[in-house]
Amino acid sequence: MVVKVGIPSTLLYYTYYPFWKAFFNEIGVQVVTSGKTNKSILDSGVKEALADACVPVKLFFGHVMEIREKVDCLFIPRVVCLNRKTVFCPKFLGLPDMIRYSVNNIPPIIDVRMDTRQGPMSLFRAYLKIGEYLGAGKLTASYAYCKASNILNTYNSLLRKGLNPVEAIDYLENPNGKLFEHHVKTKTNLRFAVLGYPYAIYDSFINVNILDSLRKLGVSVVTAENIHPLLLAVQKNCGLPKRLFWTFSDMALKAAHLIFRQGNVDGVLHLTAFGCGPDSILNKFIEFEAKQHRNIPFMTLMIDEHTGEAGMFTRLEAFVDMVRRRKEMSACPR
Ligand code: SF4
Repeated sequence: MVVKVGIPSTLLYYTYYPFWKAFFNEIGVQVVTSGKTNKSILDSGVKEALADACVPVKLFFGHVMEIREKVDCLFIPRVVCLNRKTVFCPKFLGLPDMIRYSVNNIPPIIDVRMDTRQGPMSLFRAYLKIGEYLGAGKLTASYAYCKASNILNTYNSLLRKGLNPVEAIDYLENPNGKLFEHHVKTKTNLRFAVLGYPYAIYDSFINVNILDSLRKLGVSVVTAENIHPLLLAVQKNCGLPKRLFWTFSDMALKAAHLIFRQGNVDGVLHLTAFGCGPDSILNKFIEFEAKQHRNIPFMTLMIDEHTGEAGMFTRLEAFVDMVRRRKEMSACPR
């Protein structure tokens, strides 16, 4: 019987799912995901998680509840550091324990530690360990790791071409090209940068469809995921003498620095998550950067489990109207 591994479709899903899926399939394991967030996933996450957890972690609980009974084991790696420079937020590090000790009837959890500060081959070794746990030999797991790395490269190059993770995952699973053509042909006359964590920006349920709403308002969107990581890596930290400790916060801050300096967007939005500790620092630094570039309008939007579509759309519409009027006025001859 084929072993089924459950992957919650949130948090690192938006960054590494194509790699994980390719790796598990190659070692003969079936991957089951929890699918798109919906009200019942959100409600069960809010009910199950600690009250003071951030919204994305509450959602993670909901996604785990959604698949716990459909799989033989859950894949919740303890991801500490993947670039030898920054670490993931402490909530990521504690995820396997939080789930294990707070949710009932949980299948075994694959919680291998991933920390590239332990040596150049540490990530590879972590995947060999996962392969061994699931009964795959070293050779099979090594081949699966290489194949998954290639898929991840393809996925990342789709993101650089302007697709968002949901579109890129769809494209990899149904490579008929239709989605990409549609994406390229979307007509827009404003361009915004949307900054924030991938699991907030690309989860259309929790952010009440912010990307679609912007598209409907005639705005194309650029995010940190569309920028080459090497370009981000050389950016300064918005005036800070050192980088932020947390991986996604550091990436968002560097993207803010680059986007404001390049000045080729009409507006910048920062999507923050209620209950997020790192965001309380990150948002302040992005605000400081925005104040130095007053020619680019900036707005912060906070999401929580009660965010309503109408309220969010009204704020977006008002912001887009203001940016559009400003742009038209500056184009008028005096
Ligand atoms: S970075 Fe913020 S939103 Fe993300 S898991 Fe940590 S506390 Fe939650």
